[in-house]
Amino acid sequence: MSAETPVKLTHNEDIKAAIPTLAGTIAATIADTATDHFSEDDNQFLKFHGSYQQDDRDLRKTGKKYIMMIRGRIPGGVMTAKQYGVFDTLATQYGNNTLRITTRQSIQFHGVVKNNLRPVVKAINESLLSTLAACGDVNRNVLAPPTPAYTKAREQVYADAHKVALALAPQTKAYHSIWIDGEQLDLEKAENKNFVDPLYGKTYLPRKFKIAFVIPPVNDLDVFTNCLGLIAIVENDRLVGYNLAVGGGMGRSHGNEHTYPRLADVIGFFTPDKIVDVAKAVLTIHRDFGDRTDRKHARLKYVIAERGADWARTEIEKRAGLTLASAKPYQFTTTSDLLDWRKAVDGSWFLGLFVESGRIKDAGSYKLKTALRHVADAFDKVEFRLTANQNIILANVSEEDKHPINMLLAAYGVKTEKQTSVLHAASMSCPSLPTCGLGLAESERMLPGLIDRIEKLCAEVGLAGEEIIIRSTGCPNGCARPYMAEIGFVGKAPGRYQVWLGANATGTRLNRVWKDMMKEADIETEFRPVLSRFVKERNRGERFGDWCDRVFLKEHATAAN
Ligand code: SF4
Repeated sequence: MSAETPVKLTHNEDIKAAIPTLAGTIAATIADTATDHFSEDDNQFLKFHGSYQQDDRDLRKTGKKYIMMIRGRIPGGVMTAKQYGVFDTLATQYGNNTLRITTRQSIQFHGVVKNNLRPVVKAINESLLSTLAACGDVNRNVLAPPTPAYTKAREQVYADAHKVALALAPQTKAYHSIWIDGEQLDLEKAENKNFVDPLYGKTYLPRKFKIAFVIPPVNDLDVFTNCLGLIAIVENDRLVGYNLAVGGGMGRSHGNEHTYPRLADVIGFFTPDKIVDVAKAVLTIHRDFGDRTDRKHARLKYVIAERGADWARTEIEKRAGLTLASAKPYQFTTTSDLLDWRKAVDGSWFLGLFVESGRIKDAGSYKLKTALRHVADAFDKVEFRLTANQNIILANVSEEDKHPINMLLAAYGVKTEKQTSVLHAASMSCPSLPTCGLGLAESERMLPGLIDRIEKLCAEVGLAGEEIIIRSTGCPNGCARPYMAEIGFVGKAPGRYQVWLGANATGTRLNRVWKDMMKEADIETEFRPVLSRFVKERNRGERFGDWCDRVFLKEHATAAN
């Protein structure tokens, strides 16, 4: 682009600049109970408030039925029993009677009609959580280690995650005014008329921004898939600082080579007292250098990829007023959650519960939703922790409460040991159809059945009980991190998937495309020869993803050239 070429900003940039309070005309549309949906511009503002306008795609043939998705902002995924109870009530009363755990340690509701949106958001705020900045061009829900098992330093890391979430929250008064007071923000008031967010400015970020804190050796938050990754360095149970990783992200678009998944670069180490300065420095680099002309190319990862890690280090040091030390040694051994009962470092118990695709619901004799609600009502000291693998941990359980909780869960068909097979436990999917407007193929409704089929195939070729991380998404945006799976299915068209192979189990290697398009019906035919070869050719203890990376994908690349 020459210096004279006028820069055409995206429409989102224009509307943010025109209304930096993000109020849009949301309050007026809420007040108009005769309409069932928001305008397209208000839909963009709504995202900052934590909601997406969707429609039920199963019903499109008979007409458009608007429904809202609402997502909580729950730093580190930690909820009190009381807060969980509030979310459960809202799902029953206003949603589709399910709670969906997201890959960013949050809960989202699906199927809320427009006129019920305000009661839901208001009740979430009254429970002392929020939905502000759960979506939109801002810092999203901050991830923090959910597992209480390893080290006392978790408390400090969790406190830092909270501090960062607070420091990076947008300051607009429109949120409170619309959802809590039920009023249109008075735009004639000077403070609203001239509002500019002190951190984000008038136009916020070019796109979303994601942060994760993680404590090695557990990488249960896939830290390198975040714009900003903070790898806690713990010595003698004490947090000494963080290795700083910048520029990760999953999203891409089919057929657009300027978009790709990327792992964050580790660029240095700093002490915990600088945590907010560093977070603001990285976020403002995204704000100032991110692409505002193309939303598909507007993530921080492209800024880092194109300008380089050395440039990023210098810029962060300048903005945060520090000198980064060399990164400290660390090692990851797993990205999985700990399921079943375990003892935490403080002597209390915690229970990791598998939740298929993150969907908390009642289905036949397996009544997970009802069971968890009873736990929340009866055990007020139990903490509900959402994991980035879409599972739930019941933490802070005393020795004497362990048995009654087991009994209660069992009464509703929820097991606390041997909860599922290894393949199901290692799987993850995004919601896609029927709620997500971007879904090109099924994901959540397809994956459990597909895992059953792959399980059968594994047993056939001599791989029964073998863990393989399998993830699916309905489109290339990658909400369930399919590019970090040993087998990733990425929707291309109804019943057709791009297939990616070869990531590792510690979250430090991306997978690569094997098949650009595979029919769901052909899974057995396509995978049987590959899995059979793996059985014969693997090194002792070698995982499927590692063998694909070492042998199979190399051959595949050579054959393709
Ligand atoms: Fe929707 Fe795509 Fe995200 Fe799935 S990956 S929820 S289809 S945007």
